Amino acid sequence: MKVRIVDLKDKMLVLTAEEPVADYPDLVSMVDAGDCEFLAPLRLSFSVAREFDHIRVAGKVETAVMMNCSLCLGEYDTEIASSFTVFYTKASGMALDEEVELAEEDLISKSYEGDEIDFAPEVAEQVIMEIPFKPLCKEDCAGLCSKCGVNLNETACNCDRSEGGFKFGALKGIKIEK
Ligand SMILES: [Zn+2]
Ligand SMILES: [Zn+2]
Repeated sequence: MKVRIVDLKDKMLVLTAEEPVADYPDLVSMVDAGDCEFLAPLRLSFSVAREFDHIRVAGKVETAVMMNCSLCLGEYDTEIASSFTVFYTKASGMALDEEVELAEEDLISKSYEGDEIDFAPEVAEQVIMEIPFKPLCKEDCAGLCSKCGVNLNETACNCDRSEGGFKFGALKGIKIEK
């Protein structure tokens, strides 16, 4: 998704679109690497407004992916939704790489050149950040038995996994807040 600076008048511009994952090379390479599969196009909704010397963009990216659990190896589907705010400042030709410290967390500062802003790099980055490095099908996934390999979410087994007993015992009684 792109916006032409000339289209940005005084009012906030609201843009929505559905874009195929195939338009995003970085996401296609994640699929090729087996990190996930996309079950839906990217649903984008952006509000873009001029503000002082920058352009403020509040964006939301949503999609659905299928991943493999890192513990039980089972496939599972999950929705991804990421909201973010980016300040785009026109590149002045100097100090482009300077990190701008901003008070609010999740606030990203970028520069743009020319007469339009392409949001594709930001969209790809947001989706990639939402794909966990160690996916879990559920918070309390029991994983696979280290002895016989059954999926402990589905079946119990009679293996003695007592070496791991201490760890599991210590975790018992901890309530996971949702
Ligand atoms: Zn699992
Ligand atoms: Zn077992």
